[in-house]
Amino acid sequence: THEHNSHQSRLASVGQIAAGIAHEVRNPLTAVKGFLQLLQKQSPHTYLDIAQAELDNAITTLQNLLNISKADSEEEQPVKIHLCAELESLLNLFQDQIYRVTIEKKFEDAEVSITGKRNQLKKAFFNILKNAFEAIEGQGTIKIHHYIQDELVYVTISDTGVGIPKERIDLLGTPFYTTKSEGTGMGLAYVFSTIYQHNGRIEIESEEGKGTTFKFIFPMEMPMDKGVERMDLHYESDID
Ligand code: ADP
Ligand code: MG
Repeated sequence: THEHNSHQSRLASVGQIAAGIAHEVRNPLTAVKGFLQLLQKQSPHTYLDIAQAELDNAITTLQNLLNISKADSEEEQPVKIHLCAELESLLNLFQDQIYRVTIEKKFEDAEVSITGKRNQLKKAFFNILKNAFEAIEGQGTIKIHHYIQDELVYVTISDTGVGIPKERIDLLGTPFYTTKSEGTGMGLAYVFSTIYQHNGRIEIESEEGKGTTFKFIFPMEMPMDKGVERMDLHYESDID
């Protein structure tokens, strides 16, 4: 079992630098795109089309980087989240896959909730599910297990997909790391960043040719990054 604590600090700094660069570069690129559009109107030209398409690619990449970084997390307020219900609704987005992939759900303690940023967590779990479906060539199974143990909330998502070579597991979560021809390598970077912001842990087990399991572990009542204020609510008798 690999645990990804080393990723936490690495991602924080990569994320901060990425956000800074992404902001600085995105704005001038957006301006250039506007002027190309004006030029295109005056004298239509395929080269201008190509230039605009390439700019769009660059701007999308920068937007993805900004999404990974903390920048987009600041606005959303933490709310009470029933992970089971959210996972159910995410699975609906993969309806077109159920002809080939069997979903096995085991949701214990469906009433248990965690506190977190709903959209961020949904995006994170969407990325995990998407990877699981993509890992399965042809027929296969995805198992989702939700349970409570020692006051911790567990979610495991297993697939019977291609698996990941041992020596590559530590690369997961590195921005731009992808083995897919059309991949971005942004999905897991977003996942790690989001889960760590929620004080969660991620464990990955994988066997080549057999499949992969992602295990997420959250504290039941989750203090957020900025949950320091909540500590003030502690009884005075806690303080010496
Ligand atoms: P992308 O999906 O765009 O490649 P991700 O960050 O989501 O980027 O994933 C990075 C890489 O991690 C993938 O390209 C793949 O090699 C590996 N990976 C992630 N999830 C799985 C999985 N469930 N099974 C096998 N490999 C996986
Ligand atoms: Mg992905």
